[in-house]
Amino acid sequence: MRIVLLGAPGSGKGTQSKLLIEKYNIPQMSTGDLLRAAVAAGTELGKKAKAAMDAGKLVSDDIVLGMIQERLNKPDARAGFILDGFPRNIPQAQALDAMLARMGQPLQLALLVDVDSEVLMKRLTGRRTCSNAACGAIYNIYFSAPKTQGKCDKCGSSLSHRSDDNESTVRSRLQVYEQQTAPLVSYYKAQGKLRTVRGVGSVNEIFKNVTDIIEVQMRPLAAAMSAANAAAAAKGGGTTPAAKAAAKAAKAAKAAKAASAAKPAAKTPAKPAAKKAAKKAAPKKKAKPAKKAKPVVKKKAVKKAAPKKTKKAKKAAPKKKVAAKAKKKK
Ligand code: AMP
Repeated sequence: MRIVLLGAPGSGKGTQSKLLIEKYNIPQMSTGDLLRAAVAAGTELGKKAKAAMDAGKLVSDDIVLGMIQERLNKPDARAGFILDGFPRNIPQAQALDAMLARMGQPLQLALLVDVDSEVLMKRLTGRRTCSNAACGAIYNIYFSAPKTQGKCDKCGSSLSHRSDDNESTVRSRLQVYEQQTAPLVSYYKAQGKLRTVRGVGSVNEIFKNVTDIIEVQMRPLAAAMSAANAAAAAKGGGTTPAAKAAAKAAKAAKAAKAASAAKPAAKTPAKPAAKKAAKKAAPKKKAKPAKKAKPVVKKKAVKKAAPKKTKKAKKAAPKKKVAAKAKKKK
């Protein structure tokens, strides 16, 4: 699945994407995290980005686009991704669409985490993050304080306060969001890819709503894609792992169909493994036998109807003969 998480700074996108990567086992790509890592490592790119980040402004598009292109080229991105904090403006969204079109992996969902601006300020200025990158737990001194001040409940590492989470930078970041990022809502709405979730309540409640939306959105797409993959595989055109798996399943499905067609009288069920594979191959195929079954039912109906007509005809015939005899007698 390929998802963009949209939302103002402090909307909880980061928290939700961490839960999503655990549930769906796909990588999260956060341009904010990548930029902070570059700043911490003191790379050229980090040095260029730092001033804009400290001022709560956007880092230039060419830096961010280069970074995201490199990240999308990594093999783990083939299974899908969650983009968090990218795109941040219309040109970035257009560049992303172009990149994904070249990869043949278009975006499937833009999910907006919607939170009122008064809540955002407290969330951002009160945010504390575990300094252990492997843990990355997030706290808030107003809403979800750690048990021991300044220490992570999970791993005991010290908590850090992001340098851009101070009040004046936060104000600037929220302004930038309104001016440059909020127009992406209309951009993705026009593409029919926008869904919105309210980002208030418990993290688990929000996550439940997020996953409900994802599953409703992904199901038809996944079915359409597996059908397309199976079709490509049947023609021998599929080269991706998904297409190869579909080809294998389609082959097994074909074998299962042939096996059941060979022994119709005995009604021998197809081998369970082959049946399983057939199910996996293309759920749409399930519908086909139902369509084929219809004419059989009609045939039976015709056969059943026929004797009734004959009986009626037989009964009618003697009556006619009697009537004829009666006429002759007259
Ligand atoms: P975030 O952690 O997503 O709030 O990002 C922190 C900071 O990194 C932002 O305030 C920007 O300065 C910079 N940044 C992150 N993502 C982008 C992006 N897609 N485009 C431009 N700047 C970004």
